[in-house]
Amino acid sequence: MSTMTRLPAAAPPATMTIHQLPTGTYSTKASMALRGGSRREVLQFAATAVLVQHPAGDILIDAGFGRDAEKHLQMLPRYRRSEHQIGDPAVTQLTAAGYDPRRLSGILITHSHWDHVSGVSDLAAPVLITAEEVAYARKGGADKVFQSISPGHELREYTLDGGAYLGFPNSRDLYGDGSIVIVPAAGHTTGSVIVFVALPTGARYAFIGDLTWRIEGIEHNIDRPLLMQLLADSDRKQVRQDRERIIAIADLVHVVPAHDERGFANIPLLVDGAVMDQHDVRVPWGDGTAQRNPASADGYQGPSQRRQRKRRSASWNRDNP
Ligand SMILES: [Zn+2]
Repeated sequence: MSTMTRLPAAAPPATMTIHQLPTGTYSTKASMALRGGSRREVLQFAATAVLVQHPAGDILIDAGFGRDAEKHLQMLPRYRRSEHQIGDPAVTQLTAAGYDPRRLSGILITHSHWDHVSGVSDLAAPVLITAEEVAYARKGGADKVFQSISPGHELREYTLDGGAYLGFPNSRDLYGDGSIVIVPAAGHTTGSVIVFVALPTGARYAFIGDLTWRIEGIEHNIDRPLLMQLLADSDRKQVRQDRERIIAIADLVHVVPAHDERGFANIPLLVDGAVMDQHDVRVPWGDGTAQRNPASADGYQGPSQRRQRKRRSASWNRDNP
């Protein structure tokens, strides 16, 4: 039963859209995903990026598996490597749909674990991240993938200095229109976040990252198995509290656990024709001209990229009073 009667106001622009970019899956025993899960049932955990097109700047929420996913997989401790089915990375799907990946203003990650950031290495956009998650990744996190790919990327730290939102104590309204609102969920990792998205259709989504791996964690209030809580979560109590906050609003928003393909079912795939016209692209924070590490190995340092970036900066300067 909901304790909330209404959602906070939002004024998403009429042209705002979301699309899913499924980049692959990995096999996980149900008994590892949810307390009481079957030892024989094998689930396919989704690794899916979400493209949000917004006239103030397009973002990806998480990045899924990238071109280097096999290499990243080899960086995991052996016990964490399960069978993976690696599909087209986000960069390939964007390009195939006629979307120039250089249009992205940022990659907003729910947290820095490898299955959420592998695809970052294919993209030039800044990573939007909390200071707490940068610290978590620097300390070694759960895997070394983010550490290995982040030197080629601008890490654009943001603060959650806005007011309470849907039961969470503080928030960040990315564009000031209520369409993308980030709240802290510092239990799975110490800098994890949940991203709320409000669409002009009236649809509301909560991209909850790994707060639970499967929707049963919300719909039936089921924990991860104790062993997995101990292995995978930084703060079990915080996970539980934040899960209860999401349960309280689950009849008002469409809840999307990052690894449950059922949560993505009503989000369209990005197909040709779904790409918005280029808007006056603005960056969420700063002027977007921060220097990237020239030692980047992501393949986006060519002259045409530099020209493109310069052109974009010029238009930001023009558009920003
Ligand atoms: Zn994950």
